Amino acid sequence: MTASAGTARVRNRAIEPSAVTASAGTARVRNRAIEPGATLANEMTDNLWLHFARHGPGITPPIITRGEGVTIWDDRGKSYLDGLSGLFTVQVGHGRTELAEVAARQASTLAFFPLWGYATPTAIELAERLASYAPGDLSRVFFTTGGTEAVETAWKVAKQYFKLTGKPGKHKVISRSIAYHGTTHGALAITGLPRFKAPFEPVTPGGFRVPNTNFYRAPELFRAGQHTDIKAFGQWAADRIAEAIEFEGPETVAAVFLEPVQNAGGSIPPPPGYFERVREICDTYDVLLVSDEVICAFGRIGSMFACDDFGYVPDMITCAKGMTSGYSPIGAMIASERLFEPFNDGSTMFAHGYTFGGHPVSAAVGLANLDIFEREGLNDHVKNHAPSFRATLEKLYDLPIVGDVRGEGFFYGVELVKDKATKQIFTDTERRSLLGHVSSALFQAGLYCRTDDRGDSVIQLAPPLISGQTEFDTIEAILRSVLTDVGSRL
Ligand code: PLP
Repeated sequence: MTASAGTARVRNRAIEPSAVTASAGTARVRNRAIEPGATLANEMTDNLWLHFARHGPGITPPIITRGEGVTIWDDRGKSYLDGLSGLFTVQVGHGRTELAEVAARQASTLAFFPLWGYATPTAIELAERLASYAPGDLSRVFFTTGGTEAVETAWKVAKQYFKLTGKPGKHKVISRSIAYHGTTHGALAITGLPRFKAPFEPVTPGGFRVPNTNFYRAPELFRAGQHTDIKAFGQWAADRIAEAIEFEGPETVAAVFLEPVQNAGGSIPPPPGYFERVREICDTYDVLLVSDEVICAFGRIGSMFACDDFGYVPDMITCAKGMTSGYSPIGAMIASERLFEPFNDGSTMFAHGYTFGGHPVSAAVGLANLDIFEREGLNDHVKNHAPSFRATLEKLYDLPIVGDVRGEGFFYGVELVKDKATKQIFTDTERRSLLGHVSSALFQAGLYCRTDDRGDSVIQLAPPLISGQTEFDTIEAILRSVLTDVGSRL
């Protein structure tokens, strides 16, 4: 099919999600209604190639058509609790017409202009706002369209910064095992998931891995019987970074990329003292510390930037998702003044950019989204309610299949195990079938969240930041019923 024929075909049956009403019972497409019983999935999957998804006979994706607050609806009118904020993104909840109106106003005023040698009022204002929230002297904001580009940008800044400051050999990066940092070749080289990299090897050279801080899976040394020493584990894990820098040669290492709370592997928090030690190591070896906050920024842990929650000042922050609560795409790399300085001499250029980076509509939406954060005190809300979210999830410990509940803020992972006493993990085959089943059973029971087998088997939870005890209880009740059922069949 030619591109133009394809376009015409799709145009004639274009989906208009806003036209779908839950009560109508049938999904409305712009020019016609889908017959009751049929779904858009059957109609539309001929052309759409989904992300991180399997395709093939019999596989039809759920189609989500509408959202309001913490609830989403599919094309059959069935509702679900959004237990993952879309993809760790919809912080202020769905259906905020205020954000849609801001987007419409900005598009009518100036729909698009690039930041390539020009500025726009909304980009200037959003950069100022982000800088005002950022710690230390992190004040220079480079906009992207999403998280991967922010990570890619940070690595390029690190490389060029060292070339400009007389250490041209510094180009390698260190990150943690199982951590996800994005999908382009550079970001993929930072990502610590061999399974996601294998199809695309060789990826950009220069990425090296150190252990993550999953205390539940820490070496026995730190968890002997009742005597656990999480602080010593944190020092040990941080020291692996120093070791990797020494192995590679400090003159070759540019940066360390770490999430405040690591998502892949299941909301893995830093042990006390971990980031303090990492900061020392980075200073000792003149290696830049990048806080990858694509998930953790904008209230997920309870502050605008999660490095504040753990008391460290990085050299760069990468962020995206929650900046607009997903109402329009944007991302950013925020650098310290020290990093920006060599680019500020009137002649040096950072030869890097994205057509849509810092899009004026997204920037306007970002500002309005952050206004909502301030007005509704969302960060305080997360801080105040995180203990009850954790306590509610910890009730699940009475189920034999629940090995660990971990996380911070509104960001938790529930790790499933075959044998709680020994922490025995499932085999690959068991895991695939278990998680596939759990994922669809949770969804059928009305909870959208994610099962993740990138490390051990975990269920990931990150509801919108407006959630409260009602939502925590619903999440716990659905998990309990599905995991009880699954557990009884093991
Ligand atoms: N970094 C982290 C920590 C992430 O969690 C993600 C995505 O989830 C990315 C980078 C990539 O972001 P994006 O999907 O917006 O490109």
